[in-house]
Amino acid sequence: MQILSTTEQAYQFVWQSRRNGQTVGLVPTMGALHEGHLSLAKTSVGQCDQTVATIFVNPTQFAPHEDLDQYPRTLDADLEGLRSVGVSAVFVPQSDVIYPPGFSTTVQPPDVARSLEGAFRPTHFQGVATIVLKLFHILPASHAFFGQKDYQQLCVIRAMVRDLNVPIEIVGCPTVRESDGLAMSSRNRYLDTDQRTRALRLSAALKEAEKAVLDGQRDPEAVERIMHATLLAGGPDDGVDSIDYATVVDAVTLQPIRQIQDQAVALVAAKVGSTRLIDNRLIDP
Ligand code: AMP
Repeated sequence: MQILSTTEQAYQFVWQSRRNGQTVGLVPTMGALHEGHLSLAKTSVGQCDQTVATIFVNPTQFAPHEDLDQYPRTLDADLEGLRSVGVSAVFVPQSDVIYPPGFSTTVQPPDVARSLEGAFRPTHFQGVATIVLKLFHILPASHAFFGQKDYQQLCVIRAMVRDLNVPIEIVGCPTVRESDGLAMSSRNRYLDTDQRTRALRLSAALKEAEKAVLDGQRDPEAVERIMHATLLAGGPDDGVDSIDYATVVDAVTLQPIRQIQDQAVALVAAKVGSTRLIDNRLIDP
């Protein structure tokens, strides 16, 4: 497995493969890898001739008060994991390789970035769209693999690729969960034992939302009330500490719906202690 650190090395690696008629899958990550990340890499290894992962904790998608400095960095274990699943190369750039002095161009994210995460983290998707488009140029892969765990991010990237005619196929991959339902996340390492238990309320609320819809509930507000109740039940000792949103929206536009008729998605963002967690579940009525 090759380690690439300059944009020239990265471009050449991908371009040589593409020129030889090979498909190349790109798996962008911020490191601190878990089975969720590795499942994207495995899917790419299965579908593409070559797979390139990237490890870069992108500063521009963190707001000043967020956890950039604290974000876990586990490079040796990450490289070992990627090697074990058959990744061909890993791009691990320093920050100034991506953002050299004088860098000032950014991507204005699409409309689907405005609500939900976009409302609570107003600069987040501009940072995400900008780094992802840069990676698509530095590593001109044929396919790129993203997790449904970050459902709105997947929608933002699909819309950007469509709107800006980026020649790459976006592949969405299912959320990998712990055996008790907690969606895997690099931020789960921040949770102590009690918080880890309370964090299960996110996946529980999503399951309750799906159950209500499958039982015939079609009113999104009623489903949202069930989600809030599940997240908070038992008070601060048992539930989450605060909710940013717990909502059911159209699965494609992420716009509010009057009735749950077509595929919808339930999305949750909540804090447990000082850790902000997100999760979601597609719901087919
Ligand atoms: P991150 O390192 O958090 O930026 O995530 C890198 C990629 O891994 C993104 O496409 C995420 O959606 C994806 N990802 C993160 N957690 C999971 C998970 N539990 N299951 C599947 N994909 C995930």
